[in-house]
Formats: sequence, structure tokens, C-alpha cells
Amino acid sequence: MGQRTFTGVNKGRGRYHAVYHQYGPYITELLAQLRRDWREIYQGDTAAMAAAMVDPRRVDRSYLHRGRLGEVPPLDMEQLTLLEPDHAGVSVYIPYQHNPWPATWLLFSRHRMAVTDTDLFTVASHHTGAAWTCTHCGAVDQLAFTTRHRRGTESGPDGERGIVTCTGCRSAETTDPLCTVTVDRPK
Ligand SMILES: [Zn+2]
Repeated sequence: MGQRTFTGVNKGRGRYHAVYHQYGPYITELLAQLRRDWREIYQGDTAAMAAAMVDPRRVDRSYLHRGRLGEVPPLDMEQLTLLEPDHAGVSVYIPYQHNPWPATWLLFSRHRMAVTDTDLFTVASHHTGAAWTCTHCGAVDQLAFTTRHRRGTESGPDGERGIVTCTGCRSAETTDPLCTVTVDRPK
């Protein structure tokens, strides 16, 4: 199973370099792969991983794409996943169609590369696919993804937050543009 995707690196100032995949994995599976590569191949060196992911000597040039987050997503593209070299995390974007205007890339979620004790979700990739498990209530693949902008009095960087919510227990993990995570677990 897969979809048309770009997977690459955030180059700053709204620019990105990415590799096109005709049958790219969905983020549930891709995140587990990226975390494994980051840990086992690159030993947590995000800059090295970023360089390798879009290195023209390693990637077929015809699949390399240089784009901007402000551009209209290419036709039929379903997912854009960007490694954030400054923050050891990934940002996931999906096309958002708001007729009659052209589609834009919309932030879908953000995730850190490192898995910590405080993570709300564990993402495991198995032979049969990938699954998200809530560490609070144990629900599997019961997720809602949303985003929101920084609120007036809220501290932290400007920009959209990616929010992953467990629909089983309503716990939520909010990741800001610097990949800082806030976990909210209901009592
Ligand atoms: Zn839960």
C-alpha cells in the first residue's frame, strides 16, 4: 500500500528538497522507518541524515524535487514529510483543497525523531503494517490529527502546532514548530 509522496528535508525559509515516491508509505509506517534510520544508521546525527536523504549522488536525480511550502502541491501528491535538521524532528504536510482557490500544503502533524518516556504514542512498524499505540490507555490506531496557531498569550515560536489526539482517552500531544512537545493527559 502507498501513495504519491515527497520525503525530504526542510531547507529553511519555506524551501524544501525532497524525493518523490510513487508508492510512498503513509506517515504511520514512514515515521517508524525514519526513527529507526536516525537511530541505527545515523546514530542521532540529524544533519548527516538530512544530507544523505537528498544527496544527488545517492538519489536518482529525476526523483529529486526542490519546492516551496507556499506552492500549490503537485497534482495527486498526498503527503510531504520533511526532516527538520535544526530540531531532530519531522513535519508532515498534506494538500488542503479550499475551493475555489488552489490547494496548499497544510501542516498535518509533527514528531520528534527520539522516542522518550513521556511520549504519548509509540509507533511500531510490523510486517503487516504500522500501528500507533496510546501509552495512556492502550488504544491502537485511534487518532485524530489537527493543527492550530499559537494563541495570543501563549509563549513559544510562531507558527502552526501539530496535534495528535487519542480518540480513546482524549489525551493529546501538541508539537510546536521547534518540535517541543506538550502532552495533555486527562485525569
Ligand atoms: Zn489514549
